Amino acid sequence: MSKENKFNSTVEKNQEYIVEIENNGHQCEGVAKIDNFTVFIDGALKGEKVKIKIIKVNKNYGVGKLLEVIEKSDYRSEPVCVTYKRCGGCNLQHTTYESQLEFKTERVKEVLKRIGKLDDVKVHNTLGMEHPYNYRNKVQLPVGKNKDGEVLVGFYAPRSHDIINMECCYIQDEVGDKVISITKEWIKEFNIPTYNEETNTGIVRHIMIRKGFKTGSVMVVIVTNGNKLPNSEEFVDNIRKNIENVDSIIQNINDKKTNVILGQKCKVLYGSETITDFIGEFKFNISPLSFFQVNSLQTEVLYNKALEYADLKGNEVVFDAYCGTGTISLFLSQKAKRVYGVEIIPQAIENAIRNAKENNVKNAQFIVGEAEKEIPKLIENGVKADVVVVDPPRKGCEESLLHAIAKMAPEKIVYVSCDPATLARDLNILDTLGYKTLEVQPVDMFPQTHHVENVAKLVRDI
Ligand code: SAH
Repeated sequence: MSKENKFNSTVEKNQEYIVEIENNGHQCEGVAKIDNFTVFIDGALKGEKVKIKIIKVNKNYGVGKLLEVIEKSDYRSEPVCVTYKRCGGCNLQHTTYESQLEFKTERVKEVLKRIGKLDDVKVHNTLGMEHPYNYRNKVQLPVGKNKDGEVLVGFYAPRSHDIINMECCYIQDEVGDKVISITKEWIKEFNIPTYNEETNTGIVRHIMIRKGFKTGSVMVVIVTNGNKLPNSEEFVDNIRKNIENVDSIIQNINDKKTNVILGQKCKVLYGSETITDFIGEFKFNISPLSFFQVNSLQTEVLYNKALEYADLKGNEVVFDAYCGTGTISLFLSQKAKRVYGVEIIPQAIENAIRNAKENNVKNAQFIVGEAEKEIPKLIENGVKADVVVVDPPRKGCEESLLHAIAKMAPEKIVYVSCDPATLARDLNILDTLGYKTLEVQPVDMFPQTHHVENVAKLVRDI
């Protein structure tokens, strides 16, 4: 009889093994079997033979650390970033972009079959980016110092609050690298205290950069623990001297002991309170606190697909559930008779109303509240939609909302989703309620990471 651990498997912590990777899991982690016991290995690709060390053993699975790739997959590529292995910002840089897109398409197909029980849905190839780097229009990074007093700015390491210092990040706009380096120099020169999470002391907590991709306009936000910010004039001068198109420099005050990055209070140090950007023809004001999709180019691809699937002729009433700041609603308003946007966060609705006004959109109306409560209320009051668009957070739609929509019997439903598993679950529910999913288009909004956004087109089938 073989030696067994407390979980009835022969796999032991700290043991080294050579394994073959059978598959990649939903975060692209390698999946291998040792005597039928499943082991997950970050950074290993399907088809590879790798040497691993077991770092964790649970009842149903183990976790291995990749020590060496013995036989490489054709899809393996050298990460462009030197901090890739330690940083928690990206997790697919070790595989070619083409295979990242393929991985995303296959994952969507797999969950639609397994969770959605939908066998005959057309899943298109994932729409990727021509240049899958430098796509983020927003970055927010913690600022700190190490034991030797060296200034650190960077993402946290995975599952920790250790700042991985970086010179340059390949998924953010290049202006971010410059702002980070200026900030570090300024902290060093004037010996500005950085924030200490444990003691809730120090001053500079985070640095945030936002850029309008169409306008080129840049906003820099320095997040401080309290009102005090010594040498702020020098900070502003250095940023303005070295960065083009800076239209707004803001001090955001957050004196709470919290993981939430921004506080509620903002003080303008230079320029205006907001910057502007466009998605398609529509202009949006962006403040430090407002939500705006982080990949400007792909957002347009996603929204255009949603508009294409809605296939509006001009006479339709449309519901946009989970509308955020009304971005999809404005897109739909171009071709609909009337759009009703519903969103739970009051500030987002205030922004949505302002965005509609500034873009001269008169046929969109916005309602604050839970979609699952407000949409049934609209229906009760006699408002009937021909097309419904939903774009819920990761957990998907409340089942009661799906029932209310199906009862109203719109011709079409367009489902925009940032989580394939909950999308598949909800498409299955809608299938039982008489809505057939015709096609699904994955869109790569987050290259170099495992995340994938989808748009699904459903029609009434009864
Ligand atoms: N459609 C928008 C935002 C999508 S994100 C865009 O493309 O920009 C999902 C949104 O759903 C968030 O703004 C979140 O605040 C909102 N939300 C979460 N739960 C909700 C609920 N029960 N009812 C309505 N909105 C909700």
